[in-house]
Amino acid sequence: MLQAQKTLIQTAREMAARGLSAGTSGNVSVRVPQGMLITPSATPYENLTPEMVPLVKPDGSFEGRLRPSSEWRFHLDIYLARPEAGAVVHHHAPYTTALAMARREIPACHYMIARFGGAPLRLAAYALFGTAELSTNVLAALEGRTACLMENHGGIAIGRDTNAALAAATELEVLAQQYTISLAAGGPVLLSDEEVEAAVQQFATAYRPNIPA
Ligand code: 13P
Ligand code: ZN
Repeated sequence: MLQAQKTLIQTAREMAARGLSAGTSGNVSVRVPQGMLITPSATPYENLTPEMVPLVKPDGSFEGRLRPSSEWRFHLDIYLARPEAGAVVHHHAPYTTALAMARREIPACHYMIARFGGAPLRLAAYALFGTAELSTNVLAALEGRTACLMENHGGIAIGRDTNAALAAATELEVLAQQYTISLAAGGPVLLSDEEVEAAVQQFATAYRPNIPA
């Protein structure tokens, strides 16, 4: 399984390199047959080696020298509730977090919101980090979506693998930035439900077929 640990570490380092997380904020996980691999808590990504990556099993027990991320519970609950999820990225990227602090969800301000399954990108209600309560709130906010914001915290994106989850987490931050700038420019004119639904269909028929399975 060492290749899976290496891929996880590369993804966490790339998240930091893209400016999506500073220090040890944020965390990344990937589904494996035994459960999930997740970045260890409070450990700089540049110091990580494959042996340091904990395995969390479906019952919440873990194997490894280092404790799993404090957010292991919402990562695990996402895999249990969302069979299509192969990887989860959580970050405190600046624009995503600024909107989360202002407790503003992202409305239908751009057709790209359809790539996350529809509008709005919801806010998970505030709960202490690392708690089962936060996990419950996250699952509700993610319903029918591949990303959400978390009040006074940050954002989460899911994907079929680490590349897809990191791409979604990156695009979440871009959309949050564009929405924030458009608020300063007088506020966006929002797309209708029909326009968002048409964009969701367009993604499924004109765009997704070129994405390798
Ligand atoms: P960990 O270092 O425990 O993953 O915590 C970072 C974080 O973002 C908590 O929400
Ligand atoms: Zn966090």
